[in-house]
Amino acid sequence: MSEQKVPSVDYALICGSANWGLRFPEDIQEPGISVIQGDMEFQTPWGKTSEWKLLEFDASITVDGKLRRALCVFSHGWPLDEIDHSAQRRVFWVLREAGVKKVVASSTVGSLSRAILERDFVIASDILELTQTQYSLLPGRVRYDCSGKQLVCPACAAIVERTARRLWPIENRVYGTSAGLVAAHAWGPRLTTPAEVTAYRTMGGDFINHSLAPEATLAREIGACFVNCAFVTAAYSSYFSPPQVNVLGEGVQVSLAPIASRIALQSVANFPIDETQCVCSQLRSEQNASHYNNR
Ligand SMILES: [Zn+2]
Repeated sequence: MSEQKVPSVDYALICGSANWGLRFPEDIQEPGISVIQGDMEFQTPWGKTSEWKLLEFDASITVDGKLRRALCVFSHGWPLDEIDHSAQRRVFWVLREAGVKKVVASSTVGSLSRAILERDFVIASDILELTQTQYSLLPGRVRYDCSGKQLVCPACAAIVERTARRLWPIENRVYGTSAGLVAAHAWGPRLTTPAEVTAYRTMGGDFINHSLAPEATLAREIGACFVNCAFVTAAYSSYFSPPQVNVLGEGVQVSLAPIASRIALQSVANFPIDETQCVCSQLRSEQNASHYNNR
């Protein structure tokens, strides 16, 4: 793996458990999408981030008929040999350097609701993350304000939803923006306890995972639109089943990962280029210079 200069791109795909087991995107063989460069790594102020690829979307498959380039990182940028909750700060530092404007993050989730079943596809509308990430990218407390409103981009979510309704198995459901689902957060890697499931559910969470919330917050900090591409591998009832019963449904991830991967790729090809379709980039605002000049 060789260290690279960060390329300028508008789009980013953050891979995760929704893609595990696949060489992404090569194994999907999606027409018009190619890997320009693999095995990339970048030096950040907090060390290296590895396992990046540079993808190209042919002009024949994009909504505006123009070639698109995207950066893609393996499994949230998590190192392969240790648990490191700060890894996503390095990932989003790279995305900021690249000038990324739209981010789609793939993952699997556990349901906090009896109505959201194993194998359902879920798009978050809001985030429940009580402590927020310690690993902010903002330069100090007095430079920017970051709104907590609309952490998930409705324009990008509409594209992911439309794509999922076309590709997701019809026997399973697609929850889009009209459902208003709330994604809760736990850092992991341990899975959620029955008591925690009850607590997060009581607080208003509809599903939970280990990656979505810090990524949504970091996307806001770099002024980018963010949307998730996720499906349920842990049913609500499975958290309360006998201890010898696996919380994660058997075969669910393996059978649905190729479809979720295709949804993420086709969504990037169809994300709107019109900046007026959402206000995400305005929800990070600079504070008045007097806040740091007068002291
Ligand atoms: Zn947006």
